[in-house]
Amino acid sequence: MKVPMLDLNAQYEPLMADIRAALDKVFEEHHYIMGSQVKALEERVQEYLGIKHAIGCASGTDALVLAIKALGIGDGDEVITTPFTFFATASSIWRNHAKPIFVDIDPKTFNLDPQKIEAAITPRTKAIMPVHLFGQCSDMQAIMEIAKKHNLKVIEDNAQGIGSTWNGQMSCSFGDIGTLSFFPSKNLGAMGDAGMCLTNSDDLAAKLRQLRVHGENPKYYHKWVGLNSRLDTMQAAILLVKLEALAAWSDARRANAAFYDEALAGIADLQTPYIHPQALTIYNQYTLITSRRDALMKHLQDSGIGCAIYYPMPLHLQECFAQLGYKAGDLPIAEKLAGQVLSIPIYPELSHDMKQYVADCIREFFA
Ligand SMILES: *Cc1c(COP(=O)(O)O)cnc(C)c1O
Repeated sequence: MKVPMLDLNAQYEPLMADIRAALDKVFEEHHYIMGSQVKALEERVQEYLGIKHAIGCASGTDALVLAIKALGIGDGDEVITTPFTFFATASSIWRNHAKPIFVDIDPKTFNLDPQKIEAAITPRTKAIMPVHLFGQCSDMQAIMEIAKKHNLKVIEDNAQGIGSTWNGQMSCSFGDIGTLSFFPSKNLGAMGDAGMCLTNSDDLAAKLRQLRVHGENPKYYHKWVGLNSRLDTMQAAILLVKLEALAAWSDARRANAAFYDEALAGIADLQTPYIHPQALTIYNQYTLITSRRDALMKHLQDSGIGCAIYYPMPLHLQECFAQLGYKAGDLPIAEKLAGQVLSIPIYPELSHDMKQYVADCIREFFA
């Protein structure tokens, strides 16, 4: 049996007729930049997440760059974030000439540890940027309390967590701005790149809408230097079709996780994902922890099972950030987990037999 890490063919098959019809409509209208589908998608996402403003843009990375710009964060400012995330979280700070300050993570949830944030705050700190990693919302109650106390902005990098909640409240609705990615492997993926900013602030929404079109308002008059970062009309048309399936997909991922949780319980050197009681996760990834990670990975690959390491190198140790001055040992939890994590297939279309096969192969390895 073969079990891929993700099966886009299975995901798209039931939707292709609707997607083709939606694209045909775009081809009839020829309104490829900021067509009506972009606004329709923004309105649908606002409704889905219960947040006042959605501003589409070209990628999840650009959503972060735009969010930092909109909050006026730049030269010499510091932004506290996690080292255990996709590169774009920190590069978006760097690209705005601000400085990423990495704080270690909670070893159980993989998310920024709120108890370690205050020690990293300096007079230059402007914002905290938590990531809702693998689909699990960070402890936003604790993070917002710290932000309020120190008068800091909060940007939620929610590229992996659309529809996740903390204490029943939707991710992206806690901070000043939340961001989404529609990269094809995210829970709601486009057929290309796309992203979005979410905010309840009228002022920030207006500024984000200007920043995504070169900072212009009115046309050809520029108050700021913005980006060319619009959400493509074709991608919006596709995402509008797919958004209708998202809630069911998230349920299916949680059901798959429940299956693995039970099937993989009780193995000494294997930890299944810990989900905080206050969190509702959407399982963008199902990530195991074991000291025998590399050998397990090889065993699964040899058995025809896709798996992946998210992430093998924490961001504070990346070559491009050498001038920040971090060294091995500075953030021990992130560094240790980078050597022990392995994500296995969790996508909604997994069959019972596939899940059973994955679980059997893992049990066989540890037996
Ligand atoms: C995917 C991802 C991004 C970037 O999104 P793109 O759409 O690929 O630019 C940013 N942050 C995190 C945590 C991600 O997983």
